[in-house]
Amino acid sequence: MSNDNTPAKNAIRVRFAPSPTGFLHIGSARTALFNWIFARHYGGTFLLRIEDTDLTRSEARFLDEIMTDLKWLGINWDEEPIHQSKRFDVYRASAEELVKAGRGYREGEAYIFKMPGARVIEVNDMIHGKVSFNTNDIKDQVMIKSDGSPAYNFCCVVDDAYLKVTHIIRGDDHLSNTPKQILFYEALGLKAPEFGHMPLIMGADGAKLSKRHGGVSVEEYKREGYLPEALVNYLLLLGWSPGDNREIMSLDEAVKIFDSKNMNSVQAKFDLQKLRWMNGEYIAKKGSGELLPLIKEQLKVSGRGEGVSEELLLKLTDLYKIRMKTLAEFVPATDHFFGDNYSIDEKAVEKHLKPAESKAILREFTDRIEKAGNFSAASLEEMCRAMAEEKKIKAGQIIHPTRVAISGKTTGAGLFEMMEVLGKAKVVERMRKAAS
Ligand code: GLU
Repeated sequence: MSNDNTPAKNAIRVRFAPSPTGFLHIGSARTALFNWIFARHYGGTFLLRIEDTDLTRSEARFLDEIMTDLKWLGINWDEEPIHQSKRFDVYRASAEELVKAGRGYREGEAYIFKMPGARVIEVNDMIHGKVSFNTNDIKDQVMIKSDGSPAYNFCCVVDDAYLKVTHIIRGDDHLSNTPKQILFYEALGLKAPEFGHMPLIMGADGAKLSKRHGGVSVEEYKREGYLPEALVNYLLLLGWSPGDNREIMSLDEAVKIFDSKNMNSVQAKFDLQKLRWMNGEYIAKKGSGELLPLIKEQLKVSGRGEGVSEELLLKLTDLYKIRMKTLAEFVPATDHFFGDNYSIDEKAVEKHLKPAESKAILREFTDRIEKAGNFSAASLEEMCRAMAEEKKIKAGQIIHPTRVAISGKTTGAGLFEMMEVLGKAKVVERMRKAAS
C-alpha cells in the first residue's frame, strides 16, 4: 500500500458488506478475507453488514450460504451483523436532512443529491495511491429511489459512519463510487474512512472471472472437494505478496506477517492449476482421520460407499490422499473398491489385457498368488518380482495387466497395496475373469 494512515491498534474497524443476491463469489471471499486479516493483524474489529436493499433479489438461502461459507473459510465476525433492509427509515432521515440543507432535491418520491460542480475529489487509496476525480464528470446521485429503497452509495456511507468503519477494503469495481461516497461524508459532516481498492481477479486469459475458469463461487469449490485452508491460502496470494517467495501459508501465519504495504496493485490472475496443486498439498498433509468425514461426504453425494467400513475408507484415504488434487477425485479413483460396477478404461483393456501373452502372464500370476498363504502387499510384490525373474520378463509385464484387471485403470495407488486392500478372493476373481 502506498500511504501509511494506519490508526492505532484496536481502533481499526473494517467490514465486509455482501449483497445476498447470489452465492459468495471468489472475489468477494478475497475481499472478506483481506478485511478480516487486516482487522486481526491490527487487533481491530471485523464486521458483517448485509446489503439486502434489493428486496426482490435478496434471498435468505443466499445469506445462509454466504455466512456458512465465510465460517467455512475461517472468517468470523465480531458483532451482530446489521441488515440494510431494516434501516430504510434511517437512510430516509439522512436524505431528508441533506435536502433540507439544500444539498439535494426531491423528484417525486425519490431523494436526489445535487452534485457540486467543478471540484476535484482526491482519493488517497491505500493500494493505488492518489486517484483524482472531477465532479463535473459525475451526475446528481440518487439517495433514495422512488420505491423507497436506498441507493448503494448513500446507505453505504450512512452505515459505514454508523458502524464507525475506519478502513474500507473492497474491489476496484467500487473505485468510481468512492468520490461519490466522499461527497456524502462531507455533506453529512462526517469524516471519511481510508479506502483501499483491490484489483479484480481475472481469468488466466485476462477475461473477467467466469464459470469456464473453474467456478466463481466458494460453494462450487467446496463441493468439488477443495479444503478451506487451500482456498484461503490461494486467495491470499491473489491479493498480497508475503515477499519471500513463500506460497504455502496458514491463515494464522498470514495474520501475523501481514503487511498492508505488500497488497498487490496489479490485477491478479486466477490460475486453477495452481489452486489444484495447492489443494493437493493440503490434502496430502492432512491426517486421514481428519479427511474421513469429507471423503464420506463425497461418497454420499456420488451414491457409492453404502455400508463401506470406516476401516476400509481410512486405508483408502491413506493410499489416495497423496494422489488427489481435489476430494472429488476420490470416488472415480477408488470406485473399484466399492463393488464390481466401476469405470473401465477401454483403451487400457485393449492394450494390457487383449494380447494373448498378457492373458497367459495374468493366468500364471493368478495361480501363484492364489496358492500363496500370505496376501500382504510386500509378499505380493516379492511374488511378482520372483515370477518376472524366472520368466525373464519385466515386472511391468505383470503389473500393468494385473492393475487393469483389478481396477479397470492404468493409474492409482501402488498395485500391491491395492491388491492387499481388495483381498484375495476379489483379486483372484477379477484376474481370472480378465485372463479368460
Ligand atoms: N454490497 C457491495 C458489494 O458486494 C459492497 C461494496 C462495498 O464494500 O462498499 O459489492
